[in-house]
Amino acid sequence: MTKPIYNITPFSLLDYPDKISCILWFAGCNMRCGYCYNPEIVTGQGMISIGEVKQFLSTRIGLLDAVVFSGGECTSHKSIFEIASMAKDMGFDIKIDTNGSHPFVVQRLMDEMLVDYVALDFKALPSQFLKITGKNLFQPFENTLSILLGGKVEYEVRTTVHTDLISDEELEMMVWYLYEKGYRSKQYYLQSFVNGAKTIEKLGYSAPCRFEIGNAPADFPVIVFR
Ligand code: SF4
Repeated sequence: MTKPIYNITPFSLLDYPDKISCILWFAGCNMRCGYCYNPEIVTGQGMISIGEVKQFLSTRIGLLDAVVFSGGECTSHKSIFEIASMAKDMGFDIKIDTNGSHPFVVQRLMDEMLVDYVALDFKALPSQFLKITGKNLFQPFENTLSILLGGKVEYEVRTTVHTDLISDEELEMMVWYLYEKGYRSKQYYLQSFVNGAKTIEKLGYSAPCRFEIGNAPADFPVIVFR
C-alpha cells in the first residue's frame, strides 16, 4: 500500500490564509535546498497511507476549513489527485505548497478544481537556481508561474532569503523578473532564513533581509517580510 505522507500536523492557524487547516507533509522532494528546514521529510519515507489520511480527515469535518499539502514536494506524488479529490469530497479547501517543478500537476489540479490556493516558492533566477536548489528546474518553475498568472486560483509567491545565497542585487532582479512576468495584484513574501534551524546543509549566519522596497517598481505588489 502506498504511504505518501510522512506526518500530519492536525491543526494550524498559520498555514492557510484566514482558514483553520491541517497539514499533510508529503515525503520526499526533487530539490535539495541547503536552507531546507525539513531534511527528515525530504530524505525520509512516507509512513501514513491514503486510507489513514482518509480516516483522519473524516474526524475533522466541521472542525477544520482546509487541508494544506506541504512537504517535501507534494506535486511529485501521483497520489496527490486521489488525496485532493478525497479531501474535496469531504468539503475541505486545499492549499498546496510547491517548488513549481511539476507544472502539469498544478495545471491538472486547477482544471479539476482540486486546489483553492497555491503558495509557489521562487528560489532564484536561473544563474543561482542550481546553486540554491541542487537542481536545474528553473524552467518548470517558470511554467508553473505562468499557469498561475493565467489562471483563476488564488496564489502567492514567496522567497526564502539566506543572505549568503541571495544578495540584495539578486533579490532586486527577482522582483523585476516577477514584475516583467506580470505579477501585479498579489503580495510577494520574503522570508528571512531562521538561523539555528536544522537544515539540509550547514549554513552560515544569515542577516535579516533588508531589501529596500523603494528599489521595486512603484506598482509592484506589496512586499511582505515574514
Ligand atoms: S525547501 Fe527545497 S528541499 Fe526543502 S522541501 Fe522545499 S523544495 Fe524541497
